[in-house]
Amino acid sequence: MDSLMNRNFTEIVSPAGNLEKLKIAVKYGADAVYFGGEKFNLRDKAGNFTFDDIEQGLETCRAGSVKPVFLLNSFLHEKDIKTAEEYIDRIKDYDFHAIMVSDPGMLTLLKEKNVKANLHLSTQMSTLNHLSIKLWNSLGIRRIVLARETTLDEIKMIRDHTDSEIEIFAHGALCVSYSGRCLLSRFLSGRDANQGSCSHPCRWNFSLVEEKRPGNHLEIIEHSSGTEILSSKDLNLIEFLPDYINAGVNAFKIEGRMKSLYHTANVTRIYKHAALTISNNGNFREFLPFYMRELDLISHRPYTSDLFNEFENMGFSQIPYIKNALFLGYFISKGKDETEAIVKTFNPVYLNEDIDIIYPVTGPQIKDSTVRVVEIVDEEESTAVEMARPGKFYTMTFDKAIDNDGILRRRLRIQD
Ligand code: SF4
Repeated sequence: MDSLMNRNFTEIVSPAGNLEKLKIAVKYGADAVYFGGEKFNLRDKAGNFTFDDIEQGLETCRAGSVKPVFLLNSFLHEKDIKTAEEYIDRIKDYDFHAIMVSDPGMLTLLKEKNVKANLHLSTQMSTLNHLSIKLWNSLGIRRIVLARETTLDEIKMIRDHTDSEIEIFAHGALCVSYSGRCLLSRFLSGRDANQGSCSHPCRWNFSLVEEKRPGNHLEIIEHSSGTEILSSKDLNLIEFLPDYINAGVNAFKIEGRMKSLYHTANVTRIYKHAALTISNNGNFREFLPFYMRELDLISHRPYTSDLFNEFENMGFSQIPYIKNALFLGYFISKGKDETEAIVKTFNPVYLNEDIDIIYPVTGPQIKDSTVRVVEIVDEEESTAVEMARPGKFYTMTFDKAIDNDGILRRRLRIQD
């Protein structure tokens, strides 16, 4: 491992819930991707990577010059240690850029096994100050993902005292519990958040039942469709990205290994475009409305940029999910002419409808366009159809030229 002190860079770290999402994240501009294997990561339902997937994922990262970060960030009980040792033996020769840990026990095992990858510390360890960072650095941790509760002013103070690599969460769902350490899910559904099985009960609709009136459920009326009494808004730091970069944050993590491929792609490209604009002294403010609009076109709860103060003045009035666009599919490849593409579908696509195509960002230029679908041919049957069904492959022809690696979406509400 080279020096722990390397602070002059900015990375966008994207979620790779499965191999398909990893490949899209690489195409859409991720500097690093994070993913878990079949054991010891904090998403046991995220389509976790088999050994074969890991090998393919590493190959994709190598080809795209993207850093693979492997997650071993669940907490170990005594009974887990032998399995953890065996699992580390199995993965320790893979060329991960880094392995992310939470539990100091896992860190101990990785060091005992002489694992070569850099070591990153998860946000689960609630690191809030430079003294904690000093300790973790002394134990060989290269990068610290700060607690989500850390404010911008605190980050500036931390940076005054350390040259360690610092990562923060920039976008996605939040927990109302401290750094995600929470027993609510274990209590209400028997699924332990600290072992990667959270069932998200904080987002369930709750009602009140009076002791002498069993079965009479009284809705806690805080908005028209019920109340998620503990549910948090979603994090969105795009507006303040220049401030966080100036404060000395090196890496910005996008949450969402369980979210769609479209979510991974669009959030990655927006943060990447913003980071490039800032580093090239471009006009960040000019692009900001575009960034905000695109981040509004992924499914999300109302946004906040401030976890600690997000409950102030909000009156619990707008917690329902916002969905302004539907992910339809993505290009597997271009077709035989410039208006044609082979598309893998995730939702129905109709002949003659107008849809958006978004593209990766390779520079300041945004290549997104609105196109009309003028022909749909079922790849398997070789027949023209009026509607593409989800989960299949089609050759689609559009009314204008298209580019590589497009993602199709339908607007559900007209944006200004
Ligand atoms: S129940 Fe909610 S607050 Fe608790 S770990 Fe799960 S998502 Fe986080």
